[in-house]
Amino acid sequence: MTDAQPETILTHAGTTPFNHHGIVNPPVYHASTVLFPSVAALEAADAAPFDIINYGRIGTPTSQALEGAVATLEGGFKAVTAASGLAAIATALMAFTQAGDHVLVTDSAYGPTRRFCSEVLGRFGVAVDYYDPLIGADIAALIRPETRVVYLEAPGSLTFEVQDVPAIAAAAKAAGAQVLMDNTWATPLYFRPFDHGVDVSIHAATKYIVGHSDAMLGLMVCAEAAYEPVKRSAVRFGTCAGPDDLYLGLRGLRTLAVRLKRHGQAALALADWLARQPEVDRVLYPACPDDPGHALWRRDFTGASGLFSVQLHPCPKPAVAALLDHLELFGLGYSWGGFESLALPVYPRKLRTATRWDHPGPLVRFHAGLEDIDDLIADLDRGFGRLRAAMAAPD
Ligand SMILES: *Cc1c(COP(=O)(O)O)cnc(C)c1O
Repeated sequence: MTDAQPETILTHAGTTPFNHHGIVNPPVYHASTVLFPSVAALEAADAAPFDIINYGRIGTPTSQALEGAVATLEGGFKAVTAASGLAAIATALMAFTQAGDHVLVTDSAYGPTRRFCSEVLGRFGVAVDYYDPLIGADIAALIRPETRVVYLEAPGSLTFEVQDVPAIAAAAKAAGAQVLMDNTWATPLYFRPFDHGVDVSIHAATKYIVGHSDAMLGLMVCAEAAYEPVKRSAVRFGTCAGPDDLYLGLRGLRTLAVRLKRHGQAALALADWLARQPEVDRVLYPACPDDPGHALWRRDFTGASGLFSVQLHPCPKPAVAALLDHLELFGLGYSWGGFESLALPVYPRKLRTATRWDHPGPLVRFHAGLEDIDDLIADLDRGFGRLRAAMAAPD
């Protein structure tokens, strides 16, 4: 299976029909107690590595099916599941840090990741510095003898900077630091982290892998040397995903390639239309040829998913509300990666410390869903009509 194309892996990985009556999908194991036939078997299981199923929290055939499928797809050694994307991020960071250590985190990271680093790691004596996402090989200058982790996310949450992952990973490796990356936007399909020096690839599977705006799920896909510390951290924290959610993750995987392709096509069409509106300053989407991250994205990524942002020229807040409030097809909400389109006003300025985000105009993040693309554009067109009317109205 490892040599197969991604679509083939997606279709077949994690299924063993003839282990359970020929039924195509694996069963959902609801498990706490696991029984042993003898004292000898019980003691052997307790002494074995973490992959042996000896208690529901440690793993079940359902979690192992998803972990195996995603690890194969992404080219990692093994994967560990968690109850949410943020639980996966926290578990992976705690796997490699202790008091006195130092961690470098991209300034463009997902907001709750920053809050975990600053509030929780900080309380346990781990120093955290944020770095310019576009730093590249110059990150070497920020690495200290006690730097244990360099954390990346590309493209960046809200602002979509593409990081030079191989350059940053090489500098981190040279200094003996672990390279952790949030690969949620690209999914295992559009970026191959293990080909670029990443040790742990983290996914909010809640987004595209589950893909239907329902289950919450996290994944940590590990290079061989990173697996044991990450699994140990997950076991020690007792983080485990619910069996039905694991099943929904596995089910979402089957259609990931076709869904993502469509999300990407829709996003490009919307980005193109939006870029032509006079109220739009620029579109932040690395798949657009004039995006500053386009060259790096072309070099390292094999596709673009459906999430991007739009920088508007300065305009009053009520005009942005007029655009967004009455959209019929775009919901206003957090999370993304489901079948439906979303829009969200976002404020990266509040999240930055290493770099400044000082564009004066509002920033709106869009998720292109699976609706008809012309219907989506018509909805946005009506929205921009409302925005123009609001701007023309006397105060
Ligand atoms: C949503 C998100 C997360 C967190 O995932 P949850 O499953 O919601 O905890 C992490 N990283 C990125 C980039 C996200 O968009």
